[in-house]
This record gives sequence, C-alpha cells and structure tokens, in this order.
Amino acid sequence: MKLINSDYLVIGSGIAGLTFALKVADYGSVTILTKKTAMESNTQYAQGGIAAVFSDDDHFELHEKDTLIAGADLCHKDSVKILVEEGPERINDLLNWGVNFTRDEAKNLDLVREGGHRVKRILHAADMTGDEIEKTLLKRINENPNIRLLENYTAIDLITEHQVLGNLQYAFNICFGVYALNNTTGDVEAFRAAYTLLAGGGASRVYLHTTNPEISTGDGIAMAYRAGAKISNMEFIQFHPTALYHPDHAPFLISEALRGFGGILRNRDGKRFMEDYDTNLELAPRDIVARAIDNEMKKNGDKCVYLDMTHLSPHDVKKRFPNIFKHCKEFLDIDITKDWIPVVPAAHYICGGIMTNLNGQTSMHRLLASGENAHTGVHGANRLASNSLLEAMVFSHRAAQKAIQNNPMSFDVIIPDWDDSGVDNSEEWGLIRHNRLEIQTIMWDYVGIIRSKNHLQRAIRRIHLLFDEIEDYYKRTHVSKDLLELRNMTTIAYLIARSALSREESRGLHYRTDFPQKVDKFQKDTVI
Ligand SMILES: Cc1cc2nc3c(=O)[nH]c(=O)nc-3n(C[C@H](O)[C@H](O)[C@H](O)COP(=O)(O)OP(=O)(O)OC[C@H]3O[C@@H](n4cnc5c(N)ncnc54)[C@H](O)[C@@H]3O)c2cc1C
Repeated sequence: MKLINSDYLVIGSGIAGLTFALKVADYGSVTILTKKTAMESNTQYAQGGIAAVFSDDDHFELHEKDTLIAGADLCHKDSVKILVEEGPERINDLLNWGVNFTRDEAKNLDLVREGGHRVKRILHAADMTGDEIEKTLLKRINENPNIRLLENYTAIDLITEHQVLGNLQYAFNICFGVYALNNTTGDVEAFRAAYTLLAGGGASRVYLHTTNPEISTGDGIAMAYRAGAKISNMEFIQFHPTALYHPDHAPFLISEALRGFGGILRNRDGKRFMEDYDTNLELAPRDIVARAIDNEMKKNGDKCVYLDMTHLSPHDVKKRFPNIFKHCKEFLDIDITKDWIPVVPAAHYICGGIMTNLNGQTSMHRLLASGENAHTGVHGANRLASNSLLEAMVFSHRAAQKAIQNNPMSFDVIIPDWDDSGVDNSEEWGLIRHNRLEIQTIMWDYVGIIRSKNHLQRAIRRIHLLFDEIEDYYKRTHVSKDLLELRNMTTIAYLIARSALSREESRGLHYRTDFPQKVDKFQKDTVI
C-alpha cells in the first residue's frame, strides 16, 4: 500500500482547506486531498459575498448583534465575537492574496446589504464571489512548493488508535491521518500526518432538493463520527426558499435578490400565496418563506411553485440578473421576463457539524475541523447570510496558528495496510442509485422543513434498514467513490434525524409541528 507522509494533511479544497494550507505551508509539508477537481466545492458557487465590518457606519457590536439575533439564542457568544472582530483581518488576507472584490467608482470596496444585516457589510465579486475566491486561493496554492494538491482522492476514514494500537505503547483518541481512495486507480492509499484538518464542506446532498454540488455528502462529518469525535447541532439545516426546479437539472440558486426586486411567488393557480402567511409577503425571513412554499406544495400535491417577474420591466430584469436570465434561457428555455420560474425550497447549508473549540480543535487529538464541516458555534440555530465564508477564513486561520505552535509528531507509527481481503467487485449500481434516492426522499419528506415526532421516528426506522444494508454491502465489496458517499449520506441522515427528534421545540431553522414554541431548557447544543 502506498503511504504518503506530510506534516499537515487537509481534506477538502474549498475556502476552509485552502486557507489553512496557505497558513501552515511555511512551517511544514502540506498535502491536500480533494474528491473531484480542485475547484469543485460549495465555495465555488457562493454568489452573494462575505460579511465583515468595513464601513464607517458599521461596528463590531452591530455585526455581533445581527449574528446573535439570527441564531435564535443558540450562538456561542465567544465564537461570534472572534468571528466579527477577526473578520476584517481575514478579508485583508484575501485582498493580499489577490481576490478582486467589486469596487465603486472611487475604488472603494462596494459593500452591499443582505437579509438580517442592518448595514451594508457584504463584500462581493459581482454575483460570483465564491468563484473569484476559489480561483485566487488555488493560484496561491499552486505557486507554493510546500503544498501538494491531489485531485480525485476520496478520504474514506480517519486512521486512529483502532488501526495502529498494535504498534503503540499507549494511545488515546489520536488521529494519525486518513485512508483514501485514489478514484483514478481504484487503490486505497494511506496518508500519515502530524495534523489532519477536516474541511470536507457541507452535507445538503442528503436532501432531494438542494443548492449544493455533488461533493456535498458530509463525508468529513461522517468520518469524524465513526472515529468517535463529538458532533453537534445537526438538526439545523438552512433551506433556501427558491432554487430552480427541474427534475433533470443540476442545482441552481434563484437568488433572494429577485424577490427583493419585486418578484411575486404564485401557486399553480396564480394565487399570491404569501398573503396567507406573512405581512412582509415575499420578503419575509427565509425560513418563513421556505415553510410557506413547502406548505403550498404539500397542500396542492405540487412539485414546485412559481416566481413571477413578468410584471417588471424586461430591460431592468435582464440588466440586474444577467446570469440568472442566461441560465434559465439557455438550459430550460425559460424567459424569466415572460415566463414564471418554477422554484422549490432546497437544502442549502448545515449549521452543525464536527464540534470544535475556538481554535478549530475537535474532541480528538491532532484532528482539526473548519468550514461547513465544523460546528464552531457562530451560527446557532440559523446562519446569518454571508457569515459562512467568513467563518471558514477566521477559524481555519486559528486552527493553523494552533497547529503551528504545537510540536510536530514523529512518523514512527506504523500504519497497517488497508485490508480488503475477501471482498469482490460486485458493482450493484442499482442498489447505490436506488438507496441514494431513497435517503434523499426520506430526508425531504420526513426530516425537511417541517418536522414531527411521527415523521422523524419513521425516518429513523428506514435509515436504520438502509444503514444495515449498506454496511453489509460495504464489507463485501471493493470501495468506490459512490459507495463511500452513500455510506456517509446514511450516517449524516441518521445524525440529522436523531438530533431533530431530540430537540422538542421549534427554534431558528428547526420547526416541529408538535412543539411549535421555543423552550428554555433546549437553549443548548445537541451533542452526539
Ligand atoms: C449556491 C450556494 C451559494 C452560497 N452563497 C454563499 C454566500 O454568498 N456567502 C457565504 O458566506 N456562503 C455562501 N454559501 C455557503 C458557502 O459557500 C459554504 O458554506 C462554504 O463555501 C464552505 O466552504 P468549505 O471550504 O467548508 O467547503 P467546500 O467549499 O464545500 O469544500 C469542500 C471540499 O471538500 C472536498 N471533499 C468532500 N468530501 C471529501 C472526501 N471524502 N475526500 C476528499 N475531499 C472531499 C470537496 O471536494 C471540496 O473540495 C453558499 C453555498 C451555496 C451552495
């Protein structure tokens, strides 16, 4: 078995993984593993921007307060304070690395406002902020001789004392690296490191409708859970109210800005249904709009609702939303100035994840986590728009500082070969495809925007059956990327459903019909 040693091992090439890699590269060798191409990540698709206090009429207390209000009394105040106060320094890192944020005519950074922010504090690169950040970071990574970035490697599991105990005097709860599948050759290789950072991103692909790309299967969280690390607040899933609906079309976000511009939500009969739900109509908070759409779809048995822009000036709509106009026209032949846009709410962001302290350290030694993989406590029960890219920057920086300070470990631990004796190549693609869809459907129907004890229990029963079937298949067959993802998705589905069942209240993004109120005794994290 091939064994590769590095001082720092990073799983994931989004903003969290790349930031950490750039920060530690002066202090040791770095290996980054990424599942597909380096660009493919949630980061790449971020449209809106990154929040930070930069304008004269803004201040730290205000950003903190907006974050805490969104988080519905579940944010960790110390994490939020760090996020906000260290935010501008991390934006300066991005500027120094060469990120081109949009500027106004006077060449000042163009700050915009988003839902929940009381002042203009969102830096952006037109409506393709993530793309600009990802490209720039990758440029810096590729220039750095200490960093090796390996594409098409799927991390399988953490290497802990379970694997190496035979050759250790004593060990307790330590991460020594990962086993990973080389997707190209089909071989499993071992990556040994003094520090491992999990930065595998989100998990929203466990839902039928999502804005996330295919890589978002929660692998890092599932790996950490299997290794015994603490996982927290998995029930808080942010559903974006409007993603483009088409059964055969890849996820595409229909930005909130269209509703801000005057777009009207209608059901199949043309009724402006938001009149029945909130006096702010289409501009009610995201979770309220998402719940209203979900309710309309369930009430009428429809697969989507519609966003109507046809009453607005076609010239203005095209000018303001050139990408969305082009995308809908090119891929679905929908002219948004003449046709209603079919939309559904879609899983967008997971607030919970691998529990970390203020320095990105998990409950396992030498295992760090950052970005959407991690639960740092900044989002509480609901994420404030554009705080997630910032969170990844701030806490990857802190994790890097921690890893640099500590002594590197010597490489004397012997990593056993990956044991796949007795397995065969029975590629039951039908099983993988079918089970994947089943998990996504169960999660959408029973663990989605509106939850109840009955539905959650039903989901857990079915997830258990799927889990047993998949584990059995996993033990009998050679690993493949699809199988690894399916296994991880089942674990993530279980973690979300179990956490949602245990939280007998409604708070932030978590809404239970049987417990519709916020309850004081649940003002704490759900830890598994
Ligand atoms: C459409 C969209 C719009 C968004 N808009 C905004 C916005 O405007 N502002 C904002 O703050 N946030 C936004 N977000 C959220 C934000 O983009 C993400 O939370 C953030 O980019 C996460 O960064 P990350 O580095 O943690 O993960 P990602 O960027 O998702 O990177 C994860 C990486 O891990 C790799 N990986 C996963 N599993 C494995 C494995 N087993 N082995 C090896 N590699 C693996 C992936 O291939 C990928 O490279 C948006 C998200 C989406 C989907």
